[in-house]
Amino acid sequence: MNALAQNLSGAAPIVLRAEDVGVTFDGADRPVEAIRKVDFELRRGETLAIVGPSGCGKSTLFNAIAGLLRPTRGHVEVGGRRVDDAAGHVGYMLQKDLLLPWRSVLDNVMLGLEIRKTPKPRAREIALELIRTYGLSGFEHAKPAALSGGMRQRVAIMRTLAFDPDVILLDEPFSALDFQTRLLMQADVSRIIAERGKSAILVTHDIGEAIAMADRVLVLSARPATVRALHVIELPRDGRDPAALRTDPQFQDYFAKIWADLEKPASVA
Ligand code: ADP
Ligand code: MG
Repeated sequence: MNALAQNLSGAAPIVLRAEDVGVTFDGADRPVEAIRKVDFELRRGETLAIVGPSGCGKSTLFNAIAGLLRPTRGHVEVGGRRVDDAAGHVGYMLQKDLLLPWRSVLDNVMLGLEIRKTPKPRAREIALELIRTYGLSGFEHAKPAALSGGMRQRVAIMRTLAFDPDVILLDEPFSALDFQTRLLMQADVSRIIAERGKSAILVTHDIGEAIAMADRVLVLSARPATVRALHVIELPRDGRDPAALRTDPQFQDYFAKIWADLEKPASVA
């Protein structure tokens, strides 16, 4: 049974759960309610996309899920433990690849392992295996500045995979890339996540990216964020060309449904 079928039958265990999450910031002169109430669960092997209009609170929710921000209300659990003390189970990847410019590709991939005190020879072995598997052989000693944007994002995903987190979190990971590279990277990263048997949460404003990569798409309202809809995506994606996938009538049907769910910003409505 594939991951999606398992999810639908409810057989795959829940790896992450957000319960009644609300976030209000102090703000300069008055409180800013970014998230009103968000609940969802992520099952093992699943990729869940969270989409919403710009400024609706996606990155805020991402930070709460990553354990970087404590929600004002509710909580997020990974493997049955609050994220604040589940450090190490979650790995993340952001729009900015956050590679250290003075370190080589190899040393960047090893970074997370070093922080977790993995013995150096073992860290090196894991990093080299990832670099070989994901097509950057020959670039081990190159500095990030010598790489294309797509290659840098690939190094960032390897660094995330290196310490073997249960859940991978992605916040607009490809939005700084050109269109063609973005579509190729979406397919690439989806495949890597599936091959490694990881669960993932993808936060994005890009509906096409969500449909191309996720098993389910959660649609947030405008700020303060609440859950407006949840779509199950059933599309044969394996090995398909990203452009062909986007012209599939089923893909376009999902796109139209999610577009209709998305609230438009007041300025252009
Ligand atoms: P998105 O990622 O969906 O574009 P964000 O989560 O970045 O949205 O922001 C949601 C809202 O919360 C915005 O109105 C933003 O200005 C506000 N916000 C985000 N971080 C803070 C903060 N640290 N203090 C005050 N307001 C914030
Ligand atoms: Mg954001």
